[in-house]
Parts: sequence; C-alpha cells; structure tokens
Amino acid sequence: MATDLDRPIGDGEAKSDPPSADAKRAASNQGLFRAVNERIRNSNREDEKDPMSLLCECGQAGCVAVITVGLDGFDEITSQPNRFMVELDHLVPEVDRLIESRDGFAIVEQRSGS
Ligand SMILES: [Zn+2]
Repeated sequence: MATDLDRPIGDGEAKSDPPSADAKRAASNQGLFRAVNERIRNSNREDEKDPMSLLCECGQAGCVAVITVGLDGFDEITSQPNRFMVELDHLVPEVDRLIESRDGFAIVEQRSGS
C-alpha cells in the first residue's frame, strides 16, 4: 500500500506553507545566499585555481548543500544577475528555470515576478 502517496498535502504541519509562499521566500533567499557567496568569492585570490566551496543558492529553508565551483565558473554565472547555482535536485520549479546542468550543480534562472 502506498499510504505515503495518499497522504494529503498540508496535513496540519506548521511548516507546510502554501507553495506560493515558499516560492516567494525561496526567491528572496536566493539573493541572500548570493551575497554570502560573493563575499566568499571576493576573499579568494584572483589567480586561485582551486574550486571554491559555496552555498547552494536554492533558497529553501534548511538547505546546507555545498556547491564546488571555480572562480571563472562563478563569475560566469553571476555575470547574469538573475542566475543562480543550485544542487541538481534543489531546483524549485515555481522559482527557477533550468539553464544548464554542470558537474554537481545546476545553473538556474530565477523567473521574473510575472
Ligand atoms: Zn539547496
């Protein structure tokens, strides 16, 4: 019996906000995570060749995933203001559109408010 699948969504758990609220929070959190990652990036030397360990930018509450990316990769992603890097399975379809899958993470583009 697949009882788990039959369980109704939002069955009284305090954390089960409507998806739209989660999506809005995730979208705004992405900017916060980006700010942290930029500080990490700026603390690296320009000629640093080793990949950096950065935060997953999915913006979901409780996410502690780490994404490994080189300086050039990070700069490439962040050259587009609405692009973020997330764990491959952390894409929030309501918030993000997949642009490209890379080794260990995905580049997503945040949907505009419309
Ligand atoms: Zn994440």
